[in-house]
Amino acid sequence: MIKVAKFGGSSLADANQFKKVKDIILRDSSIVITVASAPGKRFSEDNKITDLLYLSYAHLKYSVEYTKMFVHIEDRYAKIKKELNLKLNLGKEFDKIKSKMKKGMNKDYLISRGEYLNAKLLAEYLGYTFIDAKDIIFFNFNGNINIEKTTRAIEEVFKCNSKIIVPGFYGSLPNGEIKVFSRGGSDITGSIISRAINASVYENWTDVSGILMADPRIVDQPKKIDFITYNELRELSYMGANVLHTNAVAPVKEANIPINIRNTNEPDNPGTMIVNNNYEILEEHSISPITGIAGKKDFSILSIYKYPMSEEPNSLLNILEVLKKYKINIEHISSGIDNFSLILSSEHLEKYLYEIIADTKKLCNSIEIKVVRDISLIAIVGRNMVHKPGTSGKLFAAMGNNGVNIRVISQSSDELNIIIGVANENFEKCINVIYNNFIV
Ligand code: ASP
Repeated sequence: MIKVAKFGGSSLADANQFKKVKDIILRDSSIVITVASAPGKRFSEDNKITDLLYLSYAHLKYSVEYTKMFVHIEDRYAKIKKELNLKLNLGKEFDKIKSKMKKGMNKDYLISRGEYLNAKLLAEYLGYTFIDAKDIIFFNFNGNINIEKTTRAIEEVFKCNSKIIVPGFYGSLPNGEIKVFSRGGSDITGSIISRAINASVYENWTDVSGILMADPRIVDQPKKIDFITYNELRELSYMGANVLHTNAVAPVKEANIPINIRNTNEPDNPGTMIVNNNYEILEEHSISPITGIAGKKDFSILSIYKYPMSEEPNSLLNILEVLKKYKINIEHISSGIDNFSLILSSEHLEKYLYEIIADTKKLCNSIEIKVVRDISLIAIVGRNMVHKPGTSGKLFAAMGNNGVNIRVISQSSDELNIIIGVANENFEKCINVIYNNFIV
């Protein structure tokens, strides 16, 4: 069994966290490649190094004094180095970075130094081989990963080294320049490496003991999800559950490699396993009818009325064209005999509402348009709902018994989710009612 382990920013935020990471890596000999993030927050008002690097770049760009802020970055690393008794020549590393800053460098180079330096320190602390991500993660000029070249390079490096530390979040372009992923992108580095070496598991170490069944800011101490499928995760993430970088899923999902979300501060907790539907022991972990609940506020319902709608057969097509023109994504569509309704993000709709109404009225004769605002969408997600009658009945009964009026109902035909739309003011109550009826 071989594993790739990625440690997020809070797991490597200071010397004390480095010690926990060392213990985790040393007690599990199957961890062969470790991906390191830049130091994150040590406490809630603290700064992430990556944020400070972005800020330094903005100062530099507008010729605003940045050296004082840069000292904070240097101090964070110096403190880790000192407390762990390491030898890395940070002075030399920072001189190189600062001289590039004076000459004018590529923005991504500066932003990526957070993970670069942290991985160097971690490699020395563990006595492992440091491999620069620029030498194994290759982007094409269009921003996509060059999979063949990247896989070959990772395989090559892995052949020659048994224990490796790699900085997350960046790679290089065909001209050798550094390029970073979008924020949180170290997750993607771990995923690409896991696929390249065909890891048995991709461990993603963070500061929570797995994915929770509901948002803990809404539900008091929600239970942890032990096993979740990639498809269920997609549904929950889309509806607001924030777990992994979205682009980190595809490489491991396609290769059938599970992701294990673990907590650096509670290393004995098995966390959450994210697996494909065919995972062998998934059935044993399929007790609850639903896997999780997630939701988002602030949608609007845009309803189009025409009596009789048969006189305006192209009205749906017309409005879809109008929404396409303003690049507005449609969440759901429901229809009646002489009307149909579109559920859209309020933020996007409000930007072009008057243009959309004017354009639609130009295309369709004597229609009426109504907008209802302040709608929340709530999804209940679960592989166990499939082919089992009763879940929606139980859901609607629970809403009715608690005086919650449902404005929108939608269920995908794969039965993996049921989505309801309720007034924003009922959002928190609704999630608690669902949790208490289905999970507790
Ligand atoms: N350090 C980067 C960020 O803060 C990347 C990462 O941590 O995954 O976004």
